[in-house]
Amino acid sequence: MPEFPLGPPRILPRSEHSISRAHISKNALNVLYGLHKAGFEACLVGGGVRDLLLGATPKDFDVATNALPEQVRATFRNSRLIGRRFRLAHVHFGPEIIEVATYRASHDKAEDEDEARLDGDRILRDNVYGTREEDVVRRDFTVNALYYRIEDFSLIDHVGALEDIERRRLRTIGDAEQRYREDPVRMLRAVRLAAKLGLSIEAATEAPLFELGYLLETVPQARLFDEAVKLLLAGHGVRSYELLHRYRLLDYLFPVESAALEPERDRLIREALANTDQRVAAGLPVTPAFLIAVLLWEPLQAAMAHQLVRGVSEHEALLKAQDEVIRAQNDLLAVPKRFTLPAAEIWALQGRLQRRRQPGRLLGHPRFRAAFDFLVLRAQQDADLRADVEFWAARMGGGEAPTVTAEQDAVSGELAPRRRRRRRGRRRAAAQDASPVVADA
Ligand code: ATP
Ligand code: MG
Repeated sequence: MPEFPLGPPRILPRSEHSISRAHISKNALNVLYGLHKAGFEACLVGGGVRDLLLGATPKDFDVATNALPEQVRATFRNSRLIGRRFRLAHVHFGPEIIEVATYRASHDKAEDEDEARLDGDRILRDNVYGTREEDVVRRDFTVNALYYRIEDFSLIDHVGALEDIERRRLRTIGDAEQRYREDPVRMLRAVRLAAKLGLSIEAATEAPLFELGYLLETVPQARLFDEAVKLLLAGHGVRSYELLHRYRLLDYLFPVESAALEPERDRLIREALANTDQRVAAGLPVTPAFLIAVLLWEPLQAAMAHQLVRGVSEHEALLKAQDEVIRAQNDLLAVPKRFTLPAAEIWALQGRLQRRRQPGRLLGHPRFRAAFDFLVLRAQQDADLRADVEFWAARMGGGEAPTVTAEQDAVSGELAPRRRRRRRGRRRAAAQDASPVVADA
């Protein structure tokens, strides 16, 4: 945790800042008022405050308080406690959940420091309650450490966050390298926030990003997958990709070598991400499956060529290559089967689309549309495929133009119900075994 001299906070009264209750969810306000009425300090923190000040729409509203989890639980009948390592309260309002976290100190307040730091610089434990001042310094970036206090509607800034917001600048709280070493996912969070909000990364916060990518190797693969989804499928995929590429962080997420990334593959990935961003902007569903198919396409080709040289059939080569690249992928970040299976189907259908046999049957295939859209994407880089695209476009009827903008419907449409159910389970699981530093509030 940073050795960060916290001076007196800058406190902006309601008249001097732009956060209005009109922009805060009614349920979050309920929770804030409820805690205040019960005699506790209650603040809105994190991404909600940050996004409101930057003119973005917050994804969710997180609450921090000096009430202990049990006291939060006792204040709201519609709440439950979650998490083992660090307890959080979830207050339920139909589909909206307001997460309430008790102010927390960093591990250096932990009684047995050795245990908290078992793993070099990585924080393994982070479950000591503390004051607001202590809660501030365990947060990652200054812009994420503003507290909007319901009691007087003031905005409390302990770390120069307001100036950073003003300059649209991302800066770690404390020494950047140390903070990345404690939790390497913060590097991905830096990229995500810069991409999502158009923040510039301050020099000292940026410099270690070029050097420390290898730390991501120690992050659980499932947590990396969640971060990758937030980076690439949340509407700012192209910008995230560019930054990941720039800092050579991409190499630790996907089987690519940024330094040697061929222009064609790079273009294929960028095109797919640009389509995904457009879909998100239009409120259409997106799925990791299509993107996985794109990201692993070139490694798949290489692995297949390798198999074919050994004299196996094309079918067998594809199956073996598929297993190989998916395994290589899962060593970096673990993509759930519900996404790799459709990706593999999209690959398998490419050869069939190019052979143009049994068009009737292929047109009825549940992954036809996704596979076709993938072919369109490839044809943008490879003129030889354009005749295949026209062949299938002519047979699709409905006058549909061969465009990738409809790409993921086939995939996401089919997966939607299952995906949603599973996601909820995953989020709960993630919250429970959250890597110790993940604050979530
Ligand atoms: P968004 O919700 O828009 O994705 P966020 O910053 O709110 O962005 P959350 O994951 O909801 O992200 O985290 C809420 C807050 O918890 C952050 O703003 C930050 O203060 C803190 N936090 C989250 N992850 C970390 C981390 N890895 N290290 C330190 N603090 C963190
Ligand atoms: Mg948040």
